[in-house]
Amino acid sequence: MPAIGFICPDNQRVTFSECFGECRLKDGLPCSRCKALPFLRKCARQREWTGEPSTTQLLRGIRESWLKITRDYYINPDDHAFSILGTHAHAVLDNFGKGDHLTEERLRDEICSGAFDFYDGETQTLYDYKTWGSYKVQQALGIRSIEVPEIDESGQPILKKSGKNKGEPKTRKVYVNGDSVARINALFETAIQISDYRDKLLTILPEGYTVKNMAVQVISRDGGLMVSAMRGIEEKAPLVPVNGISGHWIRKYLGRKRDLLLSALEKDYAPKCRRRETWEGRKCAGYCEVSEICATLN
Ligand code: SF4
Repeated sequence: MPAIGFICPDNQRVTFSECFGECRLKDGLPCSRCKALPFLRKCARQREWTGEPSTTQLLRGIRESWLKITRDYYINPDDHAFSILGTHAHAVLDNFGKGDHLTEERLRDEICSGAFDFYDGETQTLYDYKTWGSYKVQQALGIRSIEVPEIDESGQPILKKSGKNKGEPKTRKVYVNGDSVARINALFETAIQISDYRDKLLTILPEGYTVKNMAVQVISRDGGLMVSAMRGIEEKAPLVPVNGISGHWIRKYLGRKRDLLLSALEKDYAPKCRRRETWEGRKCAGYCEVSEICATLN
């Protein structure tokens, strides 16, 4: 993927090698750089395109993946803070996988390659590690708030004593894990990803082993903060079970996206990503690294 440089704090662009040689804003920054050099070097690291799509490339919108493979673009290092945190969490957790397990192996089939995070042979559980914000955690857990009546010691509803709703029952907000539509939507890409890893993993597991459970070990980026508590989330690192999708459907879905990506590379064009892939337009508006290039195309 040819990200070739950074967008500096003053919005100017600089290539990675120019930045690593000497910061162009060094005279105006307290430590002569906007970020520590190792942070910047980590941001600049990327997987080369080898002709073989990865599961994550196929999960994105095809236009985004095609542009990231074929066009030079610049990244804002500040936007990579959480992906660096995620990589670090992966590395730390990898050190603590002991016993009957497999970690971070890149597996391939005829459609794509992908690296699962952790397979626990004892419980036959396949895990993926993610760092998510509390909104995503809330959706993935299907947490929603409902209003329930407040009850006094004798079991009678407490009524409001003043205001325009005087005489009506007082209510309080409680959180329940019941929003299955939000859960399915939030976990759609994750379920495809982890089901694809499951199918790849099943081809190499020794006899007697299978994948009985799948889950995401989440580390919440804003866990423990007020915003997270207000969304009804109690844990900072919830384990989110994931329902698997049939291998037949996964192969059909990812196979189609592989064909679309290879065709985009051949024709040097892909139509805009689907709405769902753009998070209903929010990605295009502020989170897509190739949105400027995308906006110049039809
Ligand atoms: S700006 Fe939107 S449509 Fe364009 S590549 Fe990015 S996500 Fe896809």
